Amino acid sequence: MTAAVSCSAGKSSPTLSVDAARLRAIAAACPVVGHEMLALGEAVGRVSAAPVVSTSALPPFDNSAMDGYAVRLLDLTGNGPWHLPVVARIAAGDARALSLAAGSAARIFTGAPVPFGADAIVMQEQVVRTGGMISLTERPKLGQNIRRRGEDVAQGAPALAAGLTLTPPRLALLAGCGVASVAVRPRVRVAILSTGNELSEPGSGLGPGQIYNSNRVLLGATLSGLPWVNLTDLGIRPDDPASIRKAIRHAAQTNDVVISSGGVSAGEEDHILDALRAEAAELDVLKVAIRPGKPLTIGRLGQTLYVGLPGNPYAAAITFAQIARPALRRMAGLLEEPDTWLPAVAGFTYRRRTGRREYVPVTWSERDSVGRPVLIRLGQGASASMSPLAQARGIAVIPPKCDMVIPGQTLQVEPFVD
Ligand code: AMP
Ligand code: MG
Repeated sequence: MTAAVSCSAGKSSPTLSVDAARLRAIAAACPVVGHEMLALGEAVGRVSAAPVVSTSALPPFDNSAMDGYAVRLLDLTGNGPWHLPVVARIAAGDARALSLAAGSAARIFTGAPVPFGADAIVMQEQVVRTGGMISLTERPKLGQNIRRRGEDVAQGAPALAAGLTLTPPRLALLAGCGVASVAVRPRVRVAILSTGNELSEPGSGLGPGQIYNSNRVLLGATLSGLPWVNLTDLGIRPDDPASIRKAIRHAAQTNDVVISSGGVSAGEEDHILDALRAEAAELDVLKVAIRPGKPLTIGRLGQTLYVGLPGNPYAAAITFAQIARPALRRMAGLLEEPDTWLPAVAGFTYRRRTGRREYVPVTWSERDSVGRPVLIRLGQGASASMSPLAQARGIAVIPPKCDMVIPGQTLQVEPFVD
């Protein structure tokens, strides 16, 4: 075995495990720099660029967690029941600075400020009210049903770290902390192009030998759904070395990521690798022990990440999701990777060739006694087939060394969420 770099598809280059390929892809990604300030309402799905500090304490003042009565524990001497006159009524939004006089109670509602001196709220269900008096039989605990100022987030404390997706709960937290706008990473500029003389766009005619372009909409639809991506669609490039090289060079000049499909194998009509080498790209991933999708190219053209996906749509979808997407997330400045894999159990038999980690479209309608989905395999694994993936509820992973999947075998599954 020689480690020499070949000038075509790199027959001599090592085949990487999926995990090694993913790590190399992530390492090849240079996160976009800088930030822009966005109002919270515009920031959903974007990536926090810096830690956010709370402007205000959350909650901003001690307030009641219940509809009930504010009392002072010192008044509840001996054994109950205790009887207290109700001297005030405090609703949410009450702006008065009230004190609770010794030996009295205040009617109070959820979210209302706790009067000075009160140290417990008794739920209304736990008192008997008679005219202007309440009686209670159980001694409340100190601080019961009081939400303390700053107990969620203290004023000036970090409310959110950098490198996180701004999800609705995180945006709601920032709003609660009085933060009106947030620094987000610039969008990652991603260009996509499909290669292949055989490709035609749906809506136009299909000449002899032609097929419709699936990958353009696959990638376009995947990427345009990511709020941190700014997508440019470069359409179809013919299998012409000069045209492909020019397209790649121009795309790399104005984008952070260029993603192509097709043309990454060792065939004479596969021109991506030669074009990348001619452009002096550094190639980090060439072959991966993955099924579908063994030929996969990831490299760098200057600061630009290049992702050359295989042409077969099933292979393109799997390699994008499993290897390229984590690198794009890194590029976007994201520091966390969602853990979407769940334990499941095979409900099928599958004898297979070892060596590659395989991603299998699956569906399920039943769960086993401990709640794991019982997987049904869809399709025969042909990397050009699109129906199985389109029908699947998720994707199961079969380890490289496994030569036979049997019913009852534990498998990991990644459910699709729509
Ligand atoms: P390639 O990776 O270019 O060798 O292509 C592998 C297979 O995928 C060939 O059968 C191509 O016709 C097919 N293919 C390539 N690009 C696309 C595309 N954008 N949509 C659908 N099939 C494609
Ligand atoms: Mg091709």
